[in-house]
Amino acid sequence: MPIHSFSPPNQDPHALCWLRRDLRLHDHAALHHALKSGLPVACVFIFDSTILQSLPSQDVRLAFIRESLLQVQEQLRQFGSELITAHGDPEQLIPELAASLNANAVYANEDYEPAAISRDQTVLQRLGEQDVTLQLFKDHVIFARDEILTQQKQPYTVFTPYKRNWLTRIRSEDVQSYDCKQGSWAQLSSQAIPSLNELGFQDDSKDQLLSPAGWQGAQTLLEQFEPRIHAYQERRDFPAKRGVSYLAPHLRFGTLSIRQAVSLAWPSDSDGAATWLSELIWREFYQQFLWHHPETATESFKPAYKSLPFPNREDWFEAWKEGRTGYPIVDAAMRQLNQTGYMHNRLRMISASFLVKDLLIDWRWGEHYFAEKLLDYDMASNVGGWQWAASTGCDAQPYFRIFNPVTQSRKFDPEGQFIRRYVPELLNLDKQAIHAPWQAKQLPLDFKLGQHYPAPVVDHDVQRHLALALFKQAGEPEPIDGNT
Ligand SMILES: Cc1cc2nc3c(=O)[nH]c(=O)nc-3n(C[C@H](O)[C@H](O)[C@H](O)COP(=O)(O)OP(=O)(O)OC[C@H]3O[C@@H](n4cnc5c(N)ncnc54)[C@H](O)[C@@H]3O)c2cc1C
Repeated sequence: MPIHSFSPPNQDPHALCWLRRDLRLHDHAALHHALKSGLPVACVFIFDSTILQSLPSQDVRLAFIRESLLQVQEQLRQFGSELITAHGDPEQLIPELAASLNANAVYANEDYEPAAISRDQTVLQRLGEQDVTLQLFKDHVIFARDEILTQQKQPYTVFTPYKRNWLTRIRSEDVQSYDCKQGSWAQLSSQAIPSLNELGFQDDSKDQLLSPAGWQGAQTLLEQFEPRIHAYQERRDFPAKRGVSYLAPHLRFGTLSIRQAVSLAWPSDSDGAATWLSELIWREFYQQFLWHHPETATESFKPAYKSLPFPNREDWFEAWKEGRTGYPIVDAAMRQLNQTGYMHNRLRMISASFLVKDLLIDWRWGEHYFAEKLLDYDMASNVGGWQWAASTGCDAQPYFRIFNPVTQSRKFDPEGQFIRRYVPELLNLDKQAIHAPWQAKQLPLDFKLGQHYPAPVVDHDVQRHLALALFKQAGEPEPIDGNT
């Protein structure tokens, strides 16, 4: 729906709440403040054409967003209101809508990605020309931007002292939920949310959505995870087990509030809860890091590693993407990503390390591929995770620590259960052979390596030495100091 066809209720003033990566109507900072303004509140979501243009025609994220918006719409209807949606450029559409609703303020939650910051600056300026304010609130994290700094007032580049400081700073007020019940709503006539087809995407994308969407999906996953949280520490590294929360898409799209997530684990009453909380703090660590260092979205943080001479073989990259490297754990991981839009954290570390240090391919190629495929894609965490695995980032894996994919596979998928789920060609291999079929003393008679499943595309020991040489040649990175 073009926003121009939207007919405003009347010329009475309104407050406009602009939903972006916060697709819920409870515990929502911007909505809370909009409702407090005393004016009837209208909610809007813009399908940003600049972002949509760069996506493939089948994208589970669009299906997730749409399903989440339908849940928001259903709630708004209970208040006699409607969700306004439009497809286009928010820099133009938000000021237009503010004018047609006679809004004196637009309320939204802060977004720390570089493109979002630039978009918000433009919207702020254009609204200003109409005497409308853009009011932005912290909602997506507990501590944003430069709220947690070192004693020298510098941004942290090392996680452990950042986490220590984060834990010292947090107070119960920081996780208090925002009341979104008091206030009034704009009474609007019926609005339809565009279908995936109308947005230029294939409608069957939603059939591929394996994760329950919307705030209701988030609450279901959270309830399921609650009894498991205490075993998180022991189970989280095993992709065949249901050890993790699967909440990342909900934190990404804000169908779950970070305050509610943190409240589950803080104050921590078990090692499992403390470890899970640590992961949420990693998320904030990477958020603040990207805000301070937006250039790291596209270049290595460590100056010595900005132009590592990776050979970047295209055919190896294709094999990695398609899950046919001949390393079963890597192939299972990549097929999980391709089929579901999700990849377990341990496997993200293994497959990222394999791309950079075994296949000698620039981390940015892998980062782009994950960005295309992950339902929970988040620039700060993805870039952070890739630069960690590639040894190019802040607080990264040292370059000489190189995962052996076979050892990792034996350790974290000992029975080969996960591999069998995604690499059915290996179903009949026993738990010894399945991690490295080329080393097996005995294989099933009807299984031919190179015919039924690829022989390994590279030799790990050879590539390991080449990777070490490549990094050494670039010189030692400068030590990271401060961070107290
Ligand atoms: C190469 C690589 C790329 C990654 N890309 C992304 C990404 O695009 N988006 C994303 O949300 N996470 C990313 N991660 C981090 C992590 O793998 C996922 O957050 C996690 O697997 C999501 O599953 P979960 O919700 O079940 O996590 P849980 O284990 O239940 O963790 C709870 C939450 O903590 C946060 N979290 C957990 N681990 C990390 C971490 N290492 N860094 C930052 N936050 C973390 C997530 O929000 C997650 O939902 C990446 C990690 C690596 C190594």
